[in-house]
Amino acid sequence: MNHSHPRYERTLVIIKPDGVQRSLIGEVIRRYERSGLKLAAMKMLIPTPDMVETHYTLDPEWKLKTGEKNLKAYRDKGLKPPHDDPIAQSNMILAKLKKYMASGPVVAMVWQGAHAVAIVRKLTGGTEPLMSDVGTIRGDYVLDSYKMADDDLRAIRNIVHASGSVKEAEDEIGYWFKKDEILSYRLLVDQMLYDTDLENFIE
Ligand code: ADP
Ligand code: MG
Repeated sequence: MNHSHPRYERTLVIIKPDGVQRSLIGEVIRRYERSGLKLAAMKMLIPTPDMVETHYTLDPEWKLKTGEKNLKAYRDKGLKPPHDDPIAQSNMILAKLKKYMASGPVVAMVWQGAHAVAIVRKLTGGTEPLMSDVGTIRGDYVLDSYKMADDDLRAIRNIVHASGSVKEAEDEIGYWFKKDEILSYRLLVDQMLYDTDLENFIE
């Protein structure tokens, strides 16, 4: 089997504690599932603050990228950010994220399929629910903003985590799942999604 085909791309999704508390587990899964992506692994757990820190710092660039994205979001709205230094901003975010993500059960999942990382990010929506597109999970089910979260000294509540790149996905999946917890199997719909030959349907 050619595992370099795009159909084998995988991404990590975590339904965060607010998604679980707001009874959105089924809704979130439904949205990814109906896209044609395949659920390859799933587990429920309560993460420790240390696990949350490790998860977000697997990518050494995360602090810089997240800090810069956050400062830009403030400036685009004509607002003054709490810090000018992106790393200082991310350190503050990380401390709050540890409290948020460790506050209760989460559902961790691996989704597989063509362009899994980008498709899941598209269905998930942008980080700040105030600006995430209508029709996305974060755009439809939650109403938080950077400013409100920062003023209230807490993390943005945005229902789900989704890996931001293929590399991030590989690292995060390796962190949250053992190899034998991730299942490889064929779904009947795979034929319609990926097979090059569709000549066997007419009787
Ligand atoms: P994403 O989850 O969209 O990949 P990031 O990786 O930039 O976003 O940030 C991780 C998480 O940290 C976000 O989903 C959100 O819960 C939280 N977060 C990001 N920026 C802030 C902020 N300025 N204030 C509070 N929480 C934040
Ligand atoms: Mg991210």
